[in-house]
Amino acid sequence: MSAIDTLPPLRQVIEDHQLSARKALGQNFLLDLNLTAKIARRAGDLSACDILEIGPGPGGLTRGLLAEGARKVLAIEKDARCMPVLAEISEAYPGQLEVINGDALEIDPLAHLTPPIRVAANLPYNVGTELLVRWLTPKQWPPYWESLTLMFQREVAERIVATPGSKAYGRLAILAQWRADAKIVMTLPPEAFTPPPKVHSAVVHLTALKTPRFEADASVLSRVVATAFNQRRKMLRASLKGVAPDIEDRLLASGIQPTERAEQVSIEQFCALARAVAQT
Ligand code: SAM
Repeated sequence: MSAIDTLPPLRQVIEDHQLSARKALGQNFLLDLNLTAKIARRAGDLSACDILEIGPGPGGLTRGLLAEGARKVLAIEKDARCMPVLAEISEAYPGQLEVINGDALEIDPLAHLTPPIRVAANLPYNVGTELLVRWLTPKQWPPYWESLTLMFQREVAERIVATPGSKAYGRLAILAQWRADAKIVMTLPPEAFTPPPKVHSAVVHLTALKTPRFEADASVLSRVVATAFNQRRKMLRASLKGVAPDIEDRLLASGIQPTERAEQVSIEQFCALARAVAQT
């Protein structure tokens, strides 16, 4: 009998521990272990990796990751009610699951992990994009993680993989595709979750590139792109006016017409602009 068979079904776990979902914590649980195993497989070969999971909740995806052979899982969960449930999973997989009760935005996971590291999570919607942007914008590249396999609301997933000229194209697409390959690997209807959210969800798989596609400073690029898309309908010479007094010259030097709008500009052009803005 494998370890996963010794653990009770997730519906029973939720009932026994009275884990009623809390909206403020973005709690929409996955209770189908076939589905969580499928998501875990989308994260790639786990056997030689440590996995960082944010928001394990009652542990459906955690079980999937362990059953799929993860070397070690570090799970960071804010809700203290989930600790006893996660402790039961730890017991079934001795030495393979470490759980931290805390806020993922405040905990540095690196002290607890050994490379190579992959990240897998059904993210709480309220902190999902914040965490993604942090994973994508460290000063040093390549980052500590090799891949991110993340569940988002489908609309957010579409923004991550969007191409120039589309409505969904913006800061997330540029930051994600600048230094990673990003694709949607699965979509899920609301009924896949308990309780069902209002919208569809999707899993995005991002693989870190060894070197960024184009040279640029992450914080300058992030600032320029955020400013440009803040007023996405305006011409760049207007939306970026506050970035540099001679922004029109810098746009032209980067091969961008000052009359263009942010959504027409490629990642390569935004990187050229970030380099031009960084020059004193
Ligand atoms: N992974 C579980 C699943 O798939 O069933 C739960 C996913 S649920 C969408 C998001 C989880 O993130 C919840 O368990 C919630 O308590 C947790 N969470 C919310 N905010 C968090 C934070 N700042 N740090 C860590 N966990 C958080």
